[in-house]
Amino acid sequence: MTAVLVASDLDRTLIYSARALLLEAADADAPRLVVSEVYQGAPLSFMTRRAEDALSRIASRAAFVPVTTRTVAQYRRVRLPGGVPEHAVTSNGGTILHRGEIDEGWNRSLRRRTAETCAPLVDVQALLTDPSRSSWVLRVHDAESLFLYAIVDRDILPADDLAALSERCVELGWVVSVQGRKLYCVPTTIDKRSAVAEIASRTGADTVLALGDSLLDEGMLTGADLAFRPAHGELHDVGFTASHLTVTSSRGVLAGEEMLLGIEDVIAGG
Ligand SMILES: [Mg+2]
Repeated sequence: MTAVLVASDLDRTLIYSARALLLEAADADAPRLVVSEVYQGAPLSFMTRRAEDALSRIASRAAFVPVTTRTVAQYRRVRLPGGVPEHAVTSNGGTILHRGEIDEGWNRSLRRRTAETCAPLVDVQALLTDPSRSSWVLRVHDAESLFLYAIVDRDILPADDLAALSERCVELGWVVSVQGRKLYCVPTTIDKRSAVAEIASRTGADTVLALGDSLLDEGMLTGADLAFRPAHGELHDVGFTASHLTVTSSRGVLAGEEMLLGIEDVIAGG
């Protein structure tokens, strides 16, 4: 295997908040963890030390591309081994970073395509801020004017209204994804798969390996030559499977480690 591109989602795939760790063994047997993100002076996201070591080796042998729904500012807090990657994708594919700098050309053409094919952001914003949803949609945020995410009350999230919201969004050319306390509404044009395909074509990668856990990762996993997903998250909940997809046996932060060790095996066996 020559030019390999490893495209990986971050949250709940590579890095895990305390509540997403899902450590099931006795505390004394817990894996050693490293802090991958500090927020307002406190540790927020973690990976295992073994995972970080594996990622470091992967980044030295393949083009490692972080691919996240985080905004650029949220992404820049994440500290991964190997320094600033040549390419990274943020904002769910809305932004490509080249050596840490925003690729304005990609951003412009994507905004143009979105305006042509999807309903405007204000239309979806109106759905989220509708007074009938105020009990469970707590706050609505605009992500770089590309898409929206809301903080929701998971405990009272009404399945029927969520389904109605998803259905209406589909009609508008948008998709809905719920991850933890966040509900994302994203135009269909802004997707990780196209951004990864663009980077693969720019870099001449001939093999793409992809990792992810949520519905927003599905296209990227489907489009990859080999894909990995953890045994937790939205894709696990819907039973997403494919012939080129490996599902971990572990959950939580240990699934992140398992996927990276699997990727390393693939690269070594190339
Ligand atoms: Mg994720």
